[in-house]
Amino acid sequence: MPQEEKTTVSGVPRSEDRYDAQRIETKWSERWQQDPSLYAAESKSTKPKYYVLEMLPYPSGVLHMGHVRNYSIGDALARYMWMNGYNVLHPMGWDSFGLPAENAAISANTPPREWTLRNIGNMKAQMKRLGFAYDWSCEVTTCLPDYYRWNQWFFLKLYEKGLAYRKKSKVNWCPKCATVLANEQVVDGCCWRHEDTLVEQRELEQWFLRITQYAEELLRDLEKLEGWPEKVRTMQRNWIGRSEGTLVDFKLEGGDDSPDSTIPVFTTRVDTIYGATSVQLAPEHPLVARLTKYNDPLRMQVEQLITEQRKAKEIGDIGAIEKHGVNTHRHAVNPYNGQRIPIWVANYILMDYGTGAIMSVPAHDERDYEFARKYKLEIRVVIMPQADDPEETVTEPPLPFTTMQGMLVNSGPFSGLNCEEAIRKMSAYAEEHGFGKANVTYRLKDWGISRQRYWGTPIPMLYCETEGIVPVPEKDLPVILPEKVEITLSGGSPLARVPEFANVTCPQCGGPARRETDTMDTFVDSSWYFYRYTDAHNDQAPFDSKTVSYWFPIDQYIGGVEHAILHLIYSRFWTKFMRDMGLVKNDEPVERLFTQGMIIKSGAKMSKSLGNAVSPDDMVGRYGADSTRLYTLFATSPDRELDWQDEGVEGIARFLGRVYRYVARHAPGTQQSESTTALSPEARRIQRKLHQTIKRVSDDFQGRWHFNTSIAAIMELVNELYLVEEGGVRSSSPEDGMPPAFLANVQRNLVLLLAPFAPYLAHELWEMLGEKGNLLRVAWPKYDPALAKEEEIEIPVQINGKLRSLVVVPAGSTEDAILEAALSNEKIKAMAAGKQILKKIVVPGKLVNLVLR
Ligand SMILES: [Zn+2]
Ligand SMILES: [Zn+2]
Repeated sequence: MPQEEKTTVSGVPRSEDRYDAQRIETKWSERWQQDPSLYAAESKSTKPKYYVLEMLPYPSGVLHMGHVRNYSIGDALARYMWMNGYNVLHPMGWDSFGLPAENAAISANTPPREWTLRNIGNMKAQMKRLGFAYDWSCEVTTCLPDYYRWNQWFFLKLYEKGLAYRKKSKVNWCPKCATVLANEQVVDGCCWRHEDTLVEQRELEQWFLRITQYAEELLRDLEKLEGWPEKVRTMQRNWIGRSEGTLVDFKLEGGDDSPDSTIPVFTTRVDTIYGATSVQLAPEHPLVARLTKYNDPLRMQVEQLITEQRKAKEIGDIGAIEKHGVNTHRHAVNPYNGQRIPIWVANYILMDYGTGAIMSVPAHDERDYEFARKYKLEIRVVIMPQADDPEETVTEPPLPFTTMQGMLVNSGPFSGLNCEEAIRKMSAYAEEHGFGKANVTYRLKDWGISRQRYWGTPIPMLYCETEGIVPVPEKDLPVILPEKVEITLSGGSPLARVPEFANVTCPQCGGPARRETDTMDTFVDSSWYFYRYTDAHNDQAPFDSKTVSYWFPIDQYIGGVEHAILHLIYSRFWTKFMRDMGLVKNDEPVERLFTQGMIIKSGAKMSKSLGNAVSPDDMVGRYGADSTRLYTLFATSPDRELDWQDEGVEGIARFLGRVYRYVARHAPGTQQSESTTALSPEARRIQRKLHQTIKRVSDDFQGRWHFNTSIAAIMELVNELYLVEEGGVRSSSPEDGMPPAFLANVQRNLVLLLAPFAPYLAHELWEMLGEKGNLLRVAWPKYDPALAKEEEIEIPVQINGKLRSLVVVPAGSTEDAILEAALSNEKIKAMAAGKQILKKIVVPGKLVNLVLR
């Protein structure tokens, strides 16, 4: 931190010299709110566009510090882009459906809508007090019918295209939420909201969106997203989980020709199939129920396996499960060679992964090897290492031998092929003979969107007593969520208990029908909200396609890494679907993504439940919005974890006070005409520092967003100004040392540099400098590389005490830098070639002497 300045000559600071953040921020906040067009995007503009977006919050009622950090990054960027002449879209909205509103309704007896809208009001006021430059004219609130009617409209379009469908399926059920969870919402076997609550399996009729239809494209297009963090792309890649392999049908020995007697197995290594010595089924595989039907002891053993598997899911690591299995004493037939191999049931095979059945090849798979050793199953080698020299004899490799660098043996007509070739030929062979084919599988599953909740978008479907599923006609949208509903957290959908909602007349046959009473997963709301911002009041369509094609893709999206998978995969899917509908032209919604680090305090993530949360209101009340915001950017680089220290905010407030007082002292009398007086060495130093700082801050905005170093550079500039002032340059002969016009220019630039980070103070100082007009429209300062260049000095380089060359280095270079310059000098290099350097003597700023032999 900069040191404290001395008091003024009289010893008492003038009152206007005191930095009063509350006074300044209240004054400017009022002015800004009088001008709603201040941050509005231009509808017709010749400027280049820039769409900067922070993830919209859930309206819990108060902002937390993580929000402040996220929005401070986005706001700094938006202001920087405005100052760089862009037409900026910087909107904000509310992800306002969801369970907490229902919980509040129960605990506080407040209707969800009322609770939510009141919270929005609070948080919006907080955002305004913090000075975030949002265009509130395009605010989006997802729980209002003018928004969610388009969720319903999209749902009908998805249904028309066969991308929304209903099926009975095992669902993840959180007993605490009393609702279905998507696979993505199950974390380590528990509910994502209730980390201590085990998720159960139930059978229910659900609506699904066919996201798997886009699996391949979602995967492929990750390559295009170069502006995304690599870790996010990797997480998405793993989530989609593509694997290439072969589907092979084993037959149940003694079974019939029906599909019931077929055991499809997916393998990535069909080349090892002659080494298969058992087939292993998931305990919940449908065939297992049949095989154990009349075998009570076996059934009980299988139930034990199911219990073990469930426990492993609870702990979250099915891969680490202690592997158990039971022999069914039935056999399957390997279609390649007709060999019969035993069928086992194993606790580490999952029904919801692949086909729920595997072939076990102990010689060539780590896990199968472990299992076979444990249960003394046969181990048969079918791949041998390839000899480099054909003459060489190959000995059997240590097992398990799992690499693809090998050759097939004991594999009938495929013996002698290398693994890669064998996979290709054996897949083709299976297809030819009708017992399998090459296949690609994905870990990604279709998106189950039905929720047995009240506070969400009603799904616009009806169930006619005679015709079955009937979509609500488009003209009848929106299906309005009724207001007076008794909310309980158990017993299924609250809407089912509202007869005037649930009982309807079928629009097709006029007969009685029942309305779908589940609501949509709230991830539907956030899948396309950022399109709505561009045209938030459209009541004819979700948005105008032309407007969207002007603004999209989003140039910069900023939010927490916890949304790296779900929200970002769903919204990518939604974009591709809208593109296929002809609504948008872009393939991807987001060009660049930034994920900020989280905030911790006293070693733990800041949270209300841990009692270590710092309230933004409290910080703003004590130090002001500028200091609070600036601190979140200064404490560390935005991508890293921030360890919160209240003293840090105080330090920032002191720094802003120094800036304020400097300008308060120097602003008057500096607005005179250009002085022609030459600059003193001190002024030249200031000038150099200023241009270096402009370069540093501009580079940080365009590069890695190390705003902490940007702000540190601005602090150094302010220190320099104080040093010169304290050195008495002005007091001896002000006009000679720091011409007023020069000093005015330095202060002007200092304010512009601060404008993206501390907007309130910047506006106040701007006015104090006698400047007029909207600071956002003032051009960002440019640096002159010549002026930014460090002053250079010549250093003589001696060899054995004799002057041999001169090197030019920046003034103030370190010993190492000077030595490096000397050693890389061509002349010195030539003279030192082949010799031993005994000693290197560096006198900084003076000379280098090398002692050679
Ligand atoms: Zn839950
Ligand atoms: Zn009907």
